[in-house]
Amino acid sequence: LPPLDVERIRADFPLLARKVHDKPLIYFDNANTGQKPRSVIEAVDRHYREHNANVARAVHLLGEEATAAYEGARDAIARFIHAPSRDEVILTSGTTQSINLVAYSYALPRLKAGDAILTTVMEHHANIVPWQLVAERTGATVKAAPIDANGELIVERFVEMLTPEVKLACVTHVSNVLGTVNPIREIARECRKRGIPLLVDGSQAAPHRPIDVQALGCDFYAITGHKMLAPTGTGALWAKREHLMAMPPFFGGGEMIREVRFEGTVFADPPHRFEAGTPNIAGFAGVAAAIEYLEGIGFDRLKAYEQDLLAYATAALENLPGIRIFGRAKEKEPVISFLLEGAHANDMATLLDLQGVAVRSGHHCAHPLMHFFGVPATLRASLAFYNTKAEVDGFVDAIGRVRKLLM
Ligand code: PMP
Repeated sequence: LPPLDVERIRADFPLLARKVHDKPLIYFDNANTGQKPRSVIEAVDRHYREHNANVARAVHLLGEEATAAYEGARDAIARFIHAPSRDEVILTSGTTQSINLVAYSYALPRLKAGDAILTTVMEHHANIVPWQLVAERTGATVKAAPIDANGELIVERFVEMLTPEVKLACVTHVSNVLGTVNPIREIARECRKRGIPLLVDGSQAAPHRPIDVQALGCDFYAITGHKMLAPTGTGALWAKREHLMAMPPFFGGGEMIREVRFEGTVFADPPHRFEAGTPNIAGFAGVAAAIEYLEGIGFDRLKAYEQDLLAYATAALENLPGIRIFGRAKEKEPVISFLLEGAHANDMATLLDLQGVAVRSGHHCAHPLMHFFGVPATLRASLAFYNTKAEVDGFVDAIGRVRKLLM
C-alpha cells in the first residue's frame, strides 16, 4: 500500500485550515475530541436537508430513510468492531452512557454487599464513577489494579486481584492520558478462566487501531463517536447477547417496548430494549460516514503513519531541556503527557494557545492517575493521522517561545 498522503487527507478536514489568534492552527487535542472530515459534515447536513424524520415510527418514505440511516450506522459499527451480530450493538450517546448502561442494567441487579468490581489506576472517570455509584447502592467495593512507573498495567497484580468477590472487571483499552495500550486479550483470558465478565473502555482505541471484540474475548466494549471522526453525542456499547438478554432496561420510554399495559410492560428484544426515546439520528448518519472514511484509509496505513509521528514527536520533546514525559509504555497510541520543569500546565496551555497550538492541560478526568504520578495536572499532546511532522516542529518551537516567556 502507498503511504498515507497527509496533505490530501488534511484537505478533507475544513477546520484544519482555520487560524486561531492569527496563527495557523496546530490541533493536538485529538484525545479530547477529533476533527471531522467533510464527508461526515455532509452526511449530517444531508440528513437534515433531505431525510429528516423520526426512526422506526412512521411508514412514510422519510421515516424509512431516517430509519435506514440509523440502522445503517448500527451495521457499520458492528462491522467496525467485528461484532458477531448487529443486534449486540446498542447505540448510545457515547462511552459515558455505554458504561452507565452496564453499571445500572448489568451490575446493579447483580451486586451484593462484599462483592467487588476491579478496575485500574489509569482509568478515565467514566470508567470509575459509575462503578462507585452502583457499589454505594449495593455495598460492593471498587478496587484498582496498580501500574508501574512506565505507565503500564502490572498484569500479574491485576490477575492476583481477580479474586472470587470480583463480579466484573473494567479496563481501558488505551489510556487517554498516557497512550498505554493494555493487553486486553491476556486480561480477557484470565477473566474468562475465573468466570468474571470484562468490560473494555475502547474510547481511545477505536480512533487508532482495528477492533475485533471477538478476538479480544471481552464481554462488553464501549466506544464514543466524537473521538473517531463522528459527531458528538454518538457512541455504542457492544455486549454479548447472553448478557443483553439478561439485562433489564435502564431507560424507559418509547421504542423500547413490545407491549405496554399498566399491569406490566413487555420489553423489546435487544438492541431496541436499551434505546428509549428519539436518538441522535443525524449524528449516526455521520457515524456511518466516519467509519467509511477510516476504512478508506485502512488501519495498517494509519497506524504506520501515527507511530512514526509519535516517535518523531517524542524524540523532539525529549530534546528540550526540563521536559518530563509521563508514560513510557512499550505499546502506545499517539498521546504524550508531559510537563516542563518550573511551569504550570495551565499557564503553558494558555500561552501555547496564543501561538496557535491546541493541547489539553489538567487532570484529563483521571485523578487517580495524577495522584499516582504525584502531579495535579499535565499537558497532553494527542495526535491524529491528519497531523504532520511540520506541526510537531511548530509545536516544539512554540514550547521554546513559551519557556522564554515563563522563565
Ligand atoms: N473513557 C476514556 C478513556 C476517554 O478518553 C473518554 C473521553 N475523554 C471517555 C471514556 C468518555 O467519553 P465520552 O465523554 O465521549 O462519553
